[in-house]
Amino acid sequence: MKPALVPTPAAGVHLSTGGFEAVVHGLASALSTLAAPDVPRLRTPPVIARQTIEEVGYHESFPHLLGRVFARTDGGALAESDLVLLPAGCYCVYPVHAGERLHGPTEVSVEATCFRQEAHAEPGRLRSFRMREFVRLDTAERCLAWRDDRLAAARDLLAELGLETTSEVASDPFFGRGNRLLRKLQVERELKVELCAEVAPGQRQAVASGNYHTDQFGRLFAITGPDGAVAHTACLAFGYERLALALLHRHGEETGRWPDRVRKTLDLEAPR
Ligand code: 5GP
Ligand code: ZN
Repeated sequence: MKPALVPTPAAGVHLSTGGFEAVVHGLASALSTLAAPDVPRLRTPPVIARQTIEEVGYHESFPHLLGRVFARTDGGALAESDLVLLPAGCYCVYPVHAGERLHGPTEVSVEATCFRQEAHAEPGRLRSFRMREFVRLDTAERCLAWRDDRLAAARDLLAELGLETTSEVASDPFFGRGNRLLRKLQVERELKVELCAEVAPGQRQAVASGNYHTDQFGRLFAITGPDGAVAHTACLAFGYERLALALLHRHGEETGRWPDRVRKTLDLEAPR
């Protein structure tokens, strides 16, 4: 079967063929080179404690994107459960370090299955998708420097794979009137930078994004650095499906005919 996403009756929810998964697998290994080999790896489930998502305020900033889970209680009534669908990988990391005094710069690699209730389902915009994230807990200066350095490294890696990306200062689509200010602040301080590529004809999307969260999560989860100061955090996130779609769009659906260099970096089998 050709590498492809196979639609299902639910918009933005796809099956993936073995060929597509081979590309995703190759991407997972290639992206691992962006972190030191000893960086711990976590795999998330598709759900997260609702309490965590409420603590970080996601339900208020992105109420339109959050997928809620309902289940029957002991009494048999249908009620909202203590879980929600995970909207991004890094939310799993902060509670792991809650109340901790870090020994020094801390980094984690996360493989996540995410859900967002996207209103549109153009190619590359999925409701259920996978994300690879690198999360850094450190000082303000080092988090920002790490994010910019790793974004530059990511851009080089993607260029090696034949994907020319543009780097764009972005903002999360914060919701509501009050949050317009936050959005402006996010853009002015360049807290979010995206690497964009074409994933389908005329369809440019963010295939990666680097975020600097200031001390927001450090404060919320009482995480401090070795000197006792509140930890700052940053993350670098990649969308596996978007990246695979961008590669298929760039090099064609016959992975056996992709440039040698690309096949080698993704560890794809040589054509038979
Ligand atoms: P962010 O948290 O910055 O919105 O998303 C992190 C990364 O996840 C993005 O750079 C993108 O590659 C991926 N991503 C975000 N939203 C979607 C989506 O709707 N569909 C897919 N396939 N990937 C997404
Ligand atoms: Zn993140």
